[in-house]
Amino acid sequence: MDLDSVCNCRYLVIGDPVAHSRSPEMQNAGLEALGLGRVYGKLRVMADEIGDFVAWARLHLDGFNITVPHKERIIPFLDERDPVAELAGSFNTVSCRGGKLIGCSTDGYGLENAVQEAFQLPLAGQRVLFLGTGGAACATAFRFASRGVAHLMLVNRTKAKADELAARLRVAYPELPVDVAVPGDEAALREMIGSATLLIQATSLGLKDGDPLPMNPDLLLDRPDLPVFDTIYRPTPLLRFAEAHGMPAADGRWMLLHQGARSMEIWTGKQPPVAQMRAALERSLQA
Ligand code: NAP
Repeated sequence: MDLDSVCNCRYLVIGDPVAHSRSPEMQNAGLEALGLGRVYGKLRVMADEIGDFVAWARLHLDGFNITVPHKERIIPFLDERDPVAELAGSFNTVSCRGGKLIGCSTDGYGLENAVQEAFQLPLAGQRVLFLGTGGAACATAFRFASRGVAHLMLVNRTKAKADELAARLRVAYPELPVDVAVPGDEAALREMIGSATLLIQATSLGLKDGDPLPMNPDLLLDRPDLPVFDTIYRPTPLLRFAEAHGMPAADGRWMLLHQGARSMEIWTGKQPPVAQMRAALERSLQA
């Protein structure tokens, strides 16, 4: 952990790896537009360094974002926790106030706004199929449940993790139907795809060149109308398949934008300059 490299920063994104993150370009454009003269950086923090990082952050930062794989590991270090993020077990935004760390998650807000922007789709009444039940999906599923979706379908390689999320959702939202499957159970998946009105790709598959698809894409052939949102902000194999078959499709860039804008609003109390942040993110992704 190279704290000297970020000693001029008041905000950071931490993760491992973190070098690929576009958050600094986007957040620094926002901070500049607000005239705050503060700097947002990125810092690689390994799992056994979180305690040391947190001790330093309490003294030196105004806030930080957390990315993979620390969204859950940060929890024991937080002095105050947003109840929805606590239910989801995933935090991506921390405010540092008077030495205290106050945590919440803006991933669900970001995804909700990105889905509305991409597909003009209000969440209430949607039947949402999640591929992947990691931290981002957990945070989002609880947000979506609170926004009145009609049905959640959770598909994950490790079934125990999907079962565990389903159990927590059923306790918090007893009226909401929640179903679980593994990607290899194609009969169950076919049924879920048949009834879904929105598919969210929330696995890490597609981050690296050569990654396989998270499911057999032929199962989508009967649903050219199904909107596909991939949380990854690069052209994944699933997105390419969806586009080639005329399905409404969007990548995760505006999720990143909206979750980051909400973090900035939480930290500064000011209306985030979304247009400037969006333009900076576009430039960074084209570079
Ligand atoms: P995470 O907690 O590490 O979860 C990873 C998910 O991917 C789990 O469901 C995991 O399944 C699945 N997975 C990983 N490798 C797999 C493989 N080889 N085969 C099948 N499934 C696999 O990560 P996260 O924070 O939820 O992030 C998930 C995705 O969302 C990432 O691609 C990330 O880039 C994206 N994201 C985007 C934004 C944005 O602003 N656009 C924000 C947050 C996250 P198991 O449970 O079986 O391991």
